[in-house]
Amino acid sequence: MRYPKLRELKEAIKALIQGPVTTKYPQAPHIPFPAFRGRPVPSSEDCIACGACALVCPARAIEVKENLDKRPATREVIWHYDICIFCKQCERLCTTLTGVHLGQEFDLATTDRSVLFEGIEKELILCEDCGEIIVPKAQLLWMIKKLGPLSSGNFNLIYTAQKELLLAEDLNSGLPSEPHQRTDLYRIICPKCRHQVLVFNQTGKQL
Ligand code: SF4
Ligand code: SF4
Repeated sequence: MRYPKLRELKEAIKALIQGPVTTKYPQAPHIPFPAFRGRPVPSSEDCIACGACALVCPARAIEVKENLDKRPATREVIWHYDICIFCKQCERLCTTLTGVHLGQEFDLATTDRSVLFEGIEKELILCEDCGEIIVPKAQLLWMIKKLGPLSSGNFNLIYTAQKELLLAEDLNSGLPSEPHQRTDLYRIICPKCRHQVLVFNQTGKQL
């Protein structure tokens, strides 16, 4: 019995010297500690809309929405803060490492859940043959930067880089030839269509 009483006395003296441990929030602003995990804030420059974070989000708080009726077609990546559990997996496993960052904002209480979101929207590159989604343009540009000279091994990457530098004209001047010709390889096409062109040119067979 003797030791706990001494310990309590020590705590009481410590509290008298240090003051109360509670803060005055919400009357006074609360400043969270540096490693605090608050609202995930996507970066409109660094997020390439690859959607990888949506695959690792344990709460399924990240929505990936494709707008194929828009011209150009776009992909939206949307963070829903009413579902988010602030675990930081989206930041930790982001493809570019800087596409999203958990900030210090924590006071998200509202009576209207529909306002609790933030998203980014990026242009999509579609297959010029079948219209299938290839990737967001920002993702292709990011890959070109990452690969450097190695990107010249892939036509979709070379062509996108040249168009960005205004060194190539837009070749999408109509539908690809039917059956596929070798010239169709010099278009932005998806891996499946590229495979069909190669098989047709080497074997004469249409898949
Ligand atoms: S770049 Fe990062 S934040 Fe943006 S969609 Fe991809 S994984 Fe998510
Ligand atoms: S912090 Fe966690 S729960 Fe919230 S969006 Fe990112 S991965 Fe999902």
